Amino acid sequence: MTFKKEIQSLFSDLLDVVFPETCSACGNRLYKNEHMICIYCLSNLPRTHFHNDNENPVYKIFWGRVNVEFATAFLFFSPKGIVQHMIHQLKYKGNKDIGVMLGRMYGRELKESSVFSSVQCIVPVPLHPAKLRKRGYNQSEMIAEGLSQALQIPVDTGGFKRKKHTESQTRKSRYKRWENVDNIFERAEAGIFDNKHVLLVDDVITTGATIEACAQEILKDKNTKVSVAALACAMHF
Ligand SMILES: [Zn+2]
Repeated sequence: MTFKKEIQSLFSDLLDVVFPETCSACGNRLYKNEHMICIYCLSNLPRTHFHNDNENPVYKIFWGRVNVEFATAFLFFSPKGIVQHMIHQLKYKGNKDIGVMLGRMYGRELKESSVFSSVQCIVPVPLHPAKLRKRGYNQSEMIAEGLSQALQIPVDTGGFKRKKHTESQTRKSRYKRWENVDNIFERAEAGIFDNKHVLLVDDVITTGATIEACAQEILKDKNTKVSVAALACAMHF
């Protein structure tokens, strides 16, 4: 090793000591050949495989509520688990790349099955504008981006948005506002989703209320279909 190379290598090792790259799932230090998620966590991702199940629990929560073609989620969410850690990184630590990476992984898995083969555009659940300003990005859009890369289906972020709080909504209590997700989404214009099969993308599905409200709004257009893919599901089974 030349002296210059030795210095470079020493410098990179030193950087590694000062700012070690850590696994976005477990927080342990990454080895040089690992990227974002350590090999242990990668091989232990709690996959649902729900896309292979036509009566999976994520799909079933929408039955009788809103007419979705199919719904599924990539991973099981459990409090304090590795999925929770990754989603925390994605939402609160500015780690956009983990969203894109997981979206891409999920997209590759979905591509092998043909559940979303007729989908024409991917629409992330919009964030409230104030939250978007604060966070700087929409975490669901990062997941959508990864899905789009793997599935080769475009992302549409312009056609659908979350309304600003009206005064009457602002005056409601926090709890009531959380409960009241009806009517908080709007299409940029009527007819924008006519004749389209839309894949709605969210980070975590819990009650399904947000997705339901989004789907209701999109389905106001003519001859429209809605499917759902979430990064994780946190329901009780
Ligand atoms: Zn790990």
